[in-house]
Amino acid sequence: MKADLLIRGISQLVTAEGPGPKRGPEMRRLKIIERAALAVADGVILWVGPEADWAGEATATVDVQHRAVVPGLVDPHTHAVWAGDRLADFDARVAGVPYERILAAGGGIWSTIRVTSAASHDELIALAKPRIDALLRSGATVIEVKSGYGFRPEAEIAMLDVIRTLAAGTPARIIPTLLIHVPPAGAAERAAYVSDVCQTLVPEVARRKLAQAVDVFVEKEAWSAQEAERILTSAQQHGLAIKLHTEQFQRVGGLELGLRMAALSVDHLEACSAEQVASMTGSPTIATILPGVSLHLGLAPAPGRKLIDAGAAVAVGTDLNPGSSPIFSASMALGLAVRLNGLTAQEALVAGTVNAACALGVSDAGRIEPGLPADFLVLQGADWRELVYTLGSNPVREVWIGGEKVAG
Ligand SMILES: [Zn+2]
Repeated sequence: MKADLLIRGISQLVTAEGPGPKRGPEMRRLKIIERAALAVADGVILWVGPEADWAGEATATVDVQHRAVVPGLVDPHTHAVWAGDRLADFDARVAGVPYERILAAGGGIWSTIRVTSAASHDELIALAKPRIDALLRSGATVIEVKSGYGFRPEAEIAMLDVIRTLAAGTPARIIPTLLIHVPPAGAAERAAYVSDVCQTLVPEVARRKLAQAVDVFVEKEAWSAQEAERILTSAQQHGLAIKLHTEQFQRVGGLELGLRMAALSVDHLEACSAEQVASMTGSPTIATILPGVSLHLGLAPAPGRKLIDAGAAVAVGTDLNPGSSPIFSASMALGLAVRLNGLTAQEALVAGTVNAACALGVSDAGRIEPGLPADFLVLQGADWRELVYTLGSNPVREVWIGGEKVAG
């Protein structure tokens, strides 16, 4: 066996095994190889095993000096492109004003839409690039980025163009999503907007391959399940995958719609009922939980523990956005999922790797296995659990993508 690169001196190599989402107790099953090595050829993992078993030749060798290695993390939910800030909202909320009232008063998402839709392509790149860099540095080698702060269809297209430029300028794999975020005021305006989205925006996004999925924010203060169904049906007719922001504050039918339409993921789920948790048992749709929101808004966390106990496949994302989750670290999101949502360290790693990849329809990321891209992290310590234990300091020492060290 001939490798370009052999990574040796790995204290523990830890990964989920096999393609497809891991559900319920499968989320605790990790493959752990002690005193491991990892061989790479042409950017792809060639061999993984105990270092003593390596019998091939390698052009170059890197000794990571008794540190743990895990797969590159996948952040399946971010709004990393925005302009302006939400510091006034933060002050208001700390003073006790509820988020829904801030939103209804024209603050919240609307204030970010006003500033973002007025910003130039280059301004948005300059603002978003350091956020992508921070997520990458925290271990995310695949990062979903949503539009949704453009509102007008041409401004949503402009945001997706920004995301395309960002993707070309980072070694991380960027997965773009068109987000239909908040509706205009007035019933006639809402209906006209939905028609415009279905007849013009979604077809153009599909034709130009600007997004892989369409996401709709289903909520009492946002879109109804009926409106979302029209938009998501249009997305599927144009060959795009679908996902939903749903059950964040209220239960208005979004989760049921997502399961019925075979969404890639239903995201948030803080307000999920026991019946809804049970309805996700064995579902191909991933339950994506976003603990940064629970921390930042002080809301009850999504029932991660109950979802896993019910046999759902759970993923974790940062939901990086200025209003409800200013968390610039994928590894910290996993640490929060352990503390706030009741996941074990093992479940959190699976939620932030293979399951998060499935939430994006990506089948070749989130695992360290021969034949997959050599995307992996060298941690600071010898025990991989420091990835979710550490808060406020980066547990990730090196980030490798396609067999190249891109950070650290
Ligand atoms: Zn979100």
